Amino acid sequence: MSVSDLANSTVLAAPDTYFGIYNELSKYNVHLNMFERLWASWYAYMQNDVIATGIMSFLMHEIIYFGRSLPWIIIDSIPYFNKYKIQSQKIPTAAEQWKCTKLVLLSHFTVELPQIWLFHPMAKACGMDTGVPFPHWTTMAYQIAIFFVLEDTWHYWMHRAMHWGPLYRSVHKIHHQYSAPFGLAAEYASPIETMVLGAGTVVVPIIWALFTKDFHVLTMYIWIAFRLFQAIDAHSGYEFPWSLHHFLPFWAGAEHHDVHHERFIGNYASSFRWWDYLMDTESGPEAAKRRRERREAKEAKKAKKAQ
Ligand SMILES: [Zn+2]
Ligand SMILES: [Zn+2]
Repeated sequence: MSVSDLANSTVLAAPDTYFGIYNELSKYNVHLNMFERLWASWYAYMQNDVIATGIMSFLMHEIIYFGRSLPWIIIDSIPYFNKYKIQSQKIPTAAEQWKCTKLVLLSHFTVELPQIWLFHPMAKACGMDTGVPFPHWTTMAYQIAIFFVLEDTWHYWMHRAMHWGPLYRSVHKIHHQYSAPFGLAAEYASPIETMVLGAGTVVVPIIWALFTKDFHVLTMYIWIAFRLFQAIDAHSGYEFPWSLHHFLPFWAGAEHHDVHHERFIGNYASSFRWWDYLMDTESGPEAAKRRRERREAKEAKKAKKAQ
């Protein structure tokens, strides 16, 4: 075989399919696990990191959003579960859910897609890593825990601000169209709200990357997945004896957010109960009763002092 033949055969042998790249990459990277090889092959195959992250992020968001909403749609159609529905007289109809789906999809393609696309270049400029090997799971776990706390704080204050008259009427009212929420309605909101509240989920990790230089895009994917589960489940409208807040009393869950939709006031936080507790903005009859008791105790104390 001549040298030129050899060169040609080398060119021909260069893998151009995804699994071709995967096999080639696997030969020289035995230290990587299968997920890391699949991951690295995807970026090598796409030849453009922004497009590679963009497609993967958008698809992941759609699959998790609708995939997580689906069980709630099914549960709504099974009468057995009605006893667990918080506002049991208000089961969303199929027409309502379909109308909501259409608006959510429109918002995903027009508002969220550009944001998802911008995420990679912004985060990369701030020091985000997209390579392999992946970070250790404990690193991802503590970072995600911090994101949950920071996002919840951002969400509490921004959401509370959105209940101020002019902002409520011009922005937040759309999200409150459903006084008895359901999973699909989690992202049913004005584009401005999607951007402002979404910033808590997207900008917090970017700032984290900027300051620590220790942030991997995989951590972002897992964080987004958890955050979507949290948001969809909080809108599900169902409270079970096995709901998470029974085991983690500071976890908000559906019981917390459903009251917010029903009463339009109080319970502004997303994941945890501590901000509403600290700022005395807890919603619902039990919270009102506790507030009244506190006020009465205070007055009694004052009266005793005055005697
Ligand atoms: Zn609200
Ligand atoms: Zn809501």
